[in-house]
Amino acid sequence: MTTALVNIAYLIASALFIIGLKYLSHPRTAVRGNLLGAAGMLIAIVVTLLNRRIVSFEIIIAGFILGAAIGTILARKIQMTGMPQLVALFNGFGGGASVLVAGSALIEAAGKAHDMPCQLTIAGVASGLIGAVTFWGSLIAFGKLQGVVPEKPLRYSGEQIFKSILLLASLAMGAWIVIEPSTVHFYWILVAVASALGIFLVIPIGGADMPVVITLLNSYSGLAACATGFVLGNNVLVIAGSLVGASGIILTKIMCKAMNRSLTNVLFGGLGEIPESAADADDVYGGKVKATSAEEVAMLLETARRVVIVPGYGMAAAQAQHAVRDLFNLLESKKIEVEFAIHPVAGRMPGHMNVLLAEADIPYDNLREMDEVNPTFEQTDIAIVLGANDVVNPSARTNPKSPIAGMPILNVDKARTVVVIKRSLSPGFAGIPNPLFAADNTLMLFGDGKKMIQDLITALKEG
Ligand code: NDP
Repeated sequence: MTTALVNIAYLIASALFIIGLKYLSHPRTAVRGNLLGAAGMLIAIVVTLLNRRIVSFEIIIAGFILGAAIGTILARKIQMTGMPQLVALFNGFGGGASVLVAGSALIEAAGKAHDMPCQLTIAGVASGLIGAVTFWGSLIAFGKLQGVVPEKPLRYSGEQIFKSILLLASLAMGAWIVIEPSTVHFYWILVAVASALGIFLVIPIGGADMPVVITLLNSYSGLAACATGFVLGNNVLVIAGSLVGASGIILTKIMCKAMNRSLTNVLFGGLGEIPESAADADDVYGGKVKATSAEEVAMLLETARRVVIVPGYGMAAAQAQHAVRDLFNLLESKKIEVEFAIHPVAGRMPGHMNVLLAEADIPYDNLREMDEVNPTFEQTDIAIVLGANDVVNPSARTNPKSPIAGMPILNVDKARTVVVIKRSLSPGFAGIPNPLFAADNTLMLFGDGKKMIQDLITALKEG
């Protein structure tokens, strides 16, 4: 294969990645975007393997079959709620692959030439450092979400100093390899120190903040791949790595903004801990909470003209999305206008609610983003809050001392009636009480999300 042909194929693959990313930004086109990205990756892999003749065709085909089989099984078996763990593993393997590929390329180059170009050593050590942090950080993130590693933030005295020493030590070792390429075999010690850094960076962070950490590590895995692209002189790897690096960091920023947290606070703050300023649940709820029944809510719905459903983490936990679709169809058949209000950090991963609602075939046209739906709550007869808590907590607007103060929320409290479906008065992710549950216009429908929606459907049909 000529270099020109290879570069044309890489250009096509890169264009497919970019168009794929563009399509991924909307649920309607996301599947097409995914397919285009995968096609780009297939072209990149096939061309690289053919061009470099690294392994025989038999091994390439066996690798494809094995990889496709593992991918298909994982994609079919994994629960939606387990998706962050899976992404963590993918990132980790990406980082680990970068470490191994860059390391062997560096050592091979050192064996052939005494005078290694600076670009090669700088890219090599960058790949080793970032890749090792990504690999181990992602494994710890996976372990925390899977319950293998304690979810609680593991804090200890001198933590920041210890992590700074690990970072400085790996940077110093990297600089040494760049200045004195004959010490390239210290690459694996650099990798060992960076691995420790990856572990100790993630271990103090609470399990609930893992999704943000995972998107950051996703960005790191892209940077490591990009650096490996420079080591190998492989353009498509440089481009794909940069795209992953950039999109990962943009997503991290979006998530931090939607949670009203800085990245520094996520990485180094007292995470997963309930702040002392959090209000006492008894003060907030004492004697003010009104429980309701499915029959009563069904009667209210009969006279409603506009209903907004606000899904949250509880909908995912209850796997209530298909029941919600049935309720949606039933309400629409009664000529009631129904929309879904989507908060950017509802659930436990970006796009969590969109994916679940799309899985249940709820039309995208009925999904509304926060900024779009907020002005409409005052004209909404009933807001049904299904397993959402923090994203509808009005203390974000009203209590400057609240841990979620300033976080943009869905203003469901402005609707004429609010029906909250959850099992108890337990707090959500932020661990704080929610004055919405005690508001005059709120009715609490206590129970499992799926069961309550099914009861509501039965009551509506019988009514
Ligand atoms: P919350 O975590 O605030 O609340 C979820 C609620 O669901 C709980 O109060 C729980 O109450 C209820 N619930 C759990 N299981 C069920 C069930 N089977 N049936 C009915 N209800 C159930 O969820 P939100 O979606 O409102 O907010 C997401 C939170 O996660 C935000 O604080 C956000 O910052 C954070 N976060 C989000 C990320 C993302 O990317 N989306 C990433 C990291 C953090 P009960 O136990 O009483 O049923």
